[in-house]
Amino acid sequence: MQGATPPDLGRSWWLREALALPEFVGPAAPRLDSDTTADVVILGGGYTGMWTAWFLKEREPSLDIVLLEADTCGGGPSGRNGGFCDSWYGNVADLIPTYGEDGARALLEACGPVPDRIGAFCEAHGIDAWFRKGGDLAVASAPAHEARWLPTVQAARRLGIEDGYHVLGAAQVRDRVRSPVFGGGLLIDDGANVHPARLARGLRRVLIERGVRVFEQTPVTRFAAAAPALAATPFGTVRAERAVVALGAWATRWRAFHRSLTVRGSYMVITEPAPERIGEIGWSGGESLRDLRSSVHYLRTTPGGRIAFGLGGMQPDLARRIDHRYAYDEASLQTVAAHLVRMFPGFEGVPIAAGWGGPINVSALSMPFFGRLGAGNVTYGLGYTGNGVGPSNLGGEILAALTLDTGEALTRLPVVTHEPKHFPPEPIRSPGMFVANRAIFRKDDAEASGRRVDAASGFIATIPRRLGFNLGPR
Ligand SMILES: Cc1cc2nc3c(=O)[nH]c(=O)nc-3n(C[C@H](O)[C@H](O)[C@H](O)COP(=O)(O)OP(=O)(O)OC[C@H]3O[C@@H](n4cnc5c(N)ncnc54)[C@H](O)[C@@H]3O)c2cc1C
Repeated sequence: MQGATPPDLGRSWWLREALALPEFVGPAAPRLDSDTTADVVILGGGYTGMWTAWFLKEREPSLDIVLLEADTCGGGPSGRNGGFCDSWYGNVADLIPTYGEDGARALLEACGPVPDRIGAFCEAHGIDAWFRKGGDLAVASAPAHEARWLPTVQAARRLGIEDGYHVLGAAQVRDRVRSPVFGGGLLIDDGANVHPARLARGLRRVLIERGVRVFEQTPVTRFAAAAPALAATPFGTVRAERAVVALGAWATRWRAFHRSLTVRGSYMVITEPAPERIGEIGWSGGESLRDLRSSVHYLRTTPGGRIAFGLGGMQPDLARRIDHRYAYDEASLQTVAAHLVRMFPGFEGVPIAAGWGGPINVSALSMPFFGRLGAGNVTYGLGYTGNGVGPSNLGGEILAALTLDTGEALTRLPVVTHEPKHFPPEPIRSPGMFVANRAIFRKDDAEASGRRVDAASGFIATIPRRLGFNLGPR
C-alpha cells in the first residue's frame, strides 16, 4: 500500500520547527579545533549523552565536561522521534521473565518517575517542550490484535501495580479517538508526550549555561578506551580521565557492541494542521497512541492540530551500516503515509508536511544496557530499542553514577548487572534478521487486511522469540 510522497526537509520536522526559534537555537557550540583535556569526555549529543552531562554536573558542579557531537545536538534520533515519553510499564510482560519479579519491580520503581521528572525539568528551566501527560493508549487496529494486552495486564497484577492499567472496550476507545479500524485497547496512565527536538535543544542550552563544553560538527573518528581515554576528531583530540559512550545506533559499528546491538529504521510523517479533522475523530486527550502490531504504529497530536504518525521496526536494507536511507527512505515513508489514511480516512487530502526517519538501536532483550569498557573508566549506555525518550533520563543518571563510582543503588539495576544477550554472528545475523523482519511485516499486513497469515511467514516471524529475543510476535 503506497501513499503520498512526504517532503524531505533534510531534517525532522521537529528539529526544523525548533531551530526556527532563537530559544532553541541556543548558544553557539563550535567545532573542536585544537587538542584539549577534560575530566570527562562524552561521545554523542543525544538525550543519553546530554542527561549524563546534566547528572554529572548535579553531582559534581566543578567537573570539566566535554561533549562531542558529530552533527548538532538532537540531530540524531533524539530530535527525530515520536516524543512518547514513557517508563517501562508497557514492557512489563517481558521484564518479569527477563529480570525476575524483583528486577522488574526495581526497574519500574527507578524509571516510573521519569516522565514527571522530565516535565518538571522543562518547567524549571523554561523549556516549552509541549510536555503533556495523556496516558499511553495501545489499541487493536485489527481483529487479530484483540486481547494482546492480556500478558501485560497479567504481569502488572503479579507486581501489584495493575491500578495504573485500564482495559478499554471498543466503545471506550472510540470515546477517546475514532477510527474505523480500532477495537479495544489498554490505557497505561504513565505515558506523556513531548516535542522531542525542543526537549533536546532545551537540554543543550541548560548544559552550556552550566559550563559543559559542547562541540558540534565534531565526529569522533578514533577512540582509545585507555586511562586517560582519548577521543580523536578531525580537528583536535580530547584526553580525559573518564569517558562516556552515548552513540545510540552508531555504536553498532564498535566491535565491543556489535553482537549486542542491531539497527532498525523508524519512519514518521507529520500532517499540516487539521484541527477540525482531529475534532471529527474526537482525539482531544493528548494520548500517546500505538497499536498492537509487532511493527508498531505510534501516533500523537500536536498543539497546532497536526498528527505525527510513525511506523517502527522497518528495515530498508540488511542494516549493516547506517546510511542516508535511515534519515529518508521514500518507499518506507509512502507506506507510513498510506497507513495514516487507512487509520483515519478523514485525513485523505490533508497534506503531509514532512517525512523522515532515524536509526533505532535494537538490543536482543528490547531493553537498554549500561556498563564499563577498558580499565573501567569508560562507561556506555545503549540499546533503548525505540523507547529511549523517557528511559534515557534514567540512563544518564546511571551513567553519571557509574562514571563517578558513587556506588548508588542505580548502578545495581538489572540493566547494569545483566549481560546483554548476543545476536547470532555474521554471516547468519544480517540476512537472518532481514528475513525475519520481512515475515513480521507480512504477518502484520495480512492481519491488518483480514487475510490469513501464510504458514511460512507466521512461523518465521516468531523465530526471534523462540531464540529467546524479546523481539517480534509471541
Ligand atoms: C523515528 C523515530 C521515532 C522514535 N520514537 C520514539 C518515541 O516516541 N519514544 C521513545 O521513547 N523513543 C523513540 N525513539 C527512540 C529514541 O529516539 C531513542 O531511544 C533516543 O533518542 C536515544 O537517545 P541516545 O542519546 O541514546 O541516542 P541518539 O539520539 O541516537 O544520539 C546519539 C548521537 O551520537 C551522535 N554520533 C554518532 N556518531 C558519532 C561520532 N562518531 N562522534 C560524535 N557523535 C556521534 C549522533 O549524531 C547522535 O546525535 C524513536 C526513534 C526514531 C528514530
